[in-house]
Amino acid sequence: MSLPKKLEEMQVEEASKLAQNLRDTLDRWSKLYYTKDAPEVEDYEYDEKYADLVALEEAFPEIITQDSITQRVGGEILEGFTKVTHTEPMLSMGDVFSRDELVEFDNRIQKNVGHPVDYNVELKIDGLAISLTYQDGELIQGSTRGDGNIGEDITKNLKTIKSVPQKLTRPLSIEVRGECFMPKASFAKLNAQQLEDGKPVFANPRNAAAGSLRQLNTNVTKKRDLDTFIYTVVDSNQLGAKTQHQAIQMMAELGFNTNPTQEVCANLDEVWDYIAKYEGQREDLPYGIDGIVLKVNDLSLQQELGHTVKIPRWEIAYKFPPEEAATVVRDIEWTVGRTGVVTPTAVMDPVQLAGTTVSRATLNNVDQLTAKDVHIGDTVLLHKAGDIIPEITRVVLEKRLAGTSELNIPTQCPSCGKKLVHLNGEVALRCINPDCPAQIVARLEHFGSRNAMNIMGLGPKQIQQLYAKNFIHHFDDLYKLTSEELSQLDGFKEKRVNNLLEAIDNSRKNSLERLINGLGIQGVGTKMARTLAEKFGTMDNLMQTTIEEFDAVDTIGETLANNLATFFQSDVAQNMIDELKAVGVNMEYLGVKPAESPDGYYKGKKVVLTGKLEQYTRNELKERLISLGADVAGSVSKKTDILIAGADAGSKLTKAQALGIEILDETEAIAKFEQ
Ligand code: NAD
Repeated sequence: MSLPKKLEEMQVEEASKLAQNLRDTLDRWSKLYYTKDAPEVEDYEYDEKYADLVALEEAFPEIITQDSITQRVGGEILEGFTKVTHTEPMLSMGDVFSRDELVEFDNRIQKNVGHPVDYNVELKIDGLAISLTYQDGELIQGSTRGDGNIGEDITKNLKTIKSVPQKLTRPLSIEVRGECFMPKASFAKLNAQQLEDGKPVFANPRNAAAGSLRQLNTNVTKKRDLDTFIYTVVDSNQLGAKTQHQAIQMMAELGFNTNPTQEVCANLDEVWDYIAKYEGQREDLPYGIDGIVLKVNDLSLQQELGHTVKIPRWEIAYKFPPEEAATVVRDIEWTVGRTGVVTPTAVMDPVQLAGTTVSRATLNNVDQLTAKDVHIGDTVLLHKAGDIIPEITRVVLEKRLAGTSELNIPTQCPSCGKKLVHLNGEVALRCINPDCPAQIVARLEHFGSRNAMNIMGLGPKQIQQLYAKNFIHHFDDLYKLTSEELSQLDGFKEKRVNNLLEAIDNSRKNSLERLINGLGIQGVGTKMARTLAEKFGTMDNLMQTTIEEFDAVDTIGETLANNLATFFQSDVAQNMIDELKAVGVNMEYLGVKPAESPDGYYKGKKVVLTGKLEQYTRNELKERLISLGADVAGSVSKKTDILIAGADAGSKLTKAQALGIEILDETEAIAKFEQ
């Protein structure tokens, strides 16, 4: 509680004023969070103020206003979306932060129903609530929660998500609810791309998921790799389920993606064990959770308990305490990426944070650095955004020492000294000098990297040294390197030199998608490079493709179509490609088009990979499977045909086992290549 005075010592006028201030602050934060998907403060700061408001309103019920955030579900409808009136309101949820508060909740339930109850305990997925309506087994509508009564119609967007079934396994007319979320790996990838593109990064996977789903352009949603877990059936009679646990199992049978971690707990000790288990595993889960949810398992008791205007009485969220660490900022480094974006990174005293040692945190862009007002020498609080990326939460101003001053934002590129600019109002600061050494080195690093030309032994250190010695500048220079030049690299004796020469030589034979990825075209990653290679077949075709032809490809939007045509028709690209042709780099797609893949064991099957592999890298195995006609997906659902599980497989394996999906180990999977 952060109120200035004890509630017993407060007069009603003072309480009313404080409450109104809190409402104004919470409303402003909610608007940024729900409508703009760009929160200004951490959830726990919001939760703390919210708890203060609840305490004030409970102590002085006469000060409650009808529009208070405690009396309604937060969220508004974005312009451009059709409104959907929910058949049953989509409510918010009460939350608690300690075991004592859980005991209070349990006592309340027991008092109301007259006996102890079982709870179905589930993970609280950090995403946004969605509702899906099916008629005779066909998906007819999907919507957001909105203000709880009216949501946004996002049917088209939801249809792009693989785990949302378009058709159920039975022709039921049913409405279900669940969470749409962005897996951690996709979140990290998306933010890295946003940074490269000079666009603002998302604060956490929840906001990234919401921003990706509430899109007027369905193509954007499609590219964002969203996933879902369904956990509620609106009318349980339609399923014949008696308990929450059973309802989830029945929904899995209908084809929905459900979270396999739910457990029925007979008492709070068991609930506490569940909490401890998943708080410990939180880091390793592939998706973000911000707590657990306790639900009265008996659905008829849920009905009996009912809900307030805002929250159901039969469920409560236990939220995990925020994981934070304090450390001191020693320096701010400015680095130039391959597209010229200049990013500030705070270099700090190493500190333990949620399982790893952290000594660097990106500040993403100048706006963020200015907003957070970080000075060198400041003590800062760190947390991990989406449980993965270390981020500075705030400066501890009380610990600021005299003499620190605001940072000088560079006006010139730290690498080439040319003037930095903000392009078209971008938040990112950019160096637009194509000859900037840092950009050249970063582009060469990307070209040789594992997902691009995959030149083993050519890491950032080697690239930097070769560039500093003036041996490489353009991509084709890599193919002209001699053994004398390579032997000048630190630690390079004959064997390493020969290995690197061989790796460079082998990369000439790569299939086209690796080269396209290596060129570093804005908006083109591994997946898009493959699509382009598959669709257009040769580099010459790509160079003659018009904006309209690019645009006609399903997964390519207008902006990317424009980027691609501009790039491939530019003199710079034409020269670069001519030079690469001259050194013998392959310009054709060598993979098998999915439609032409041989009829074998994997053709047309949905395959998921998990665990540590020994004979193949994840990417190599994925490519091989795709060439055999498989569709390789990131998560296990009812639609998955095969799970290939390497060592130490985790939740995907458990889920596949629960769904009765065929499971192969690496050796068995390889043996089936020829079948
Ligand atoms: P909530 O997000 O705390 O809890 C309710 C939601 O949990 C449901 O709508 C559902 O989407 C989700 N959920 C996830 N897993 C679930 C499961 N297994 N079963 C049932 N529901 C599950 O409540 P809310 O009203 O959506 O949002 C309030 C919270 O949002 C606040 O407590 C705060 O943490 C956050 N918030 C933050 C800011 C900010 O500026 N940082 C602003 C507003 C709200």
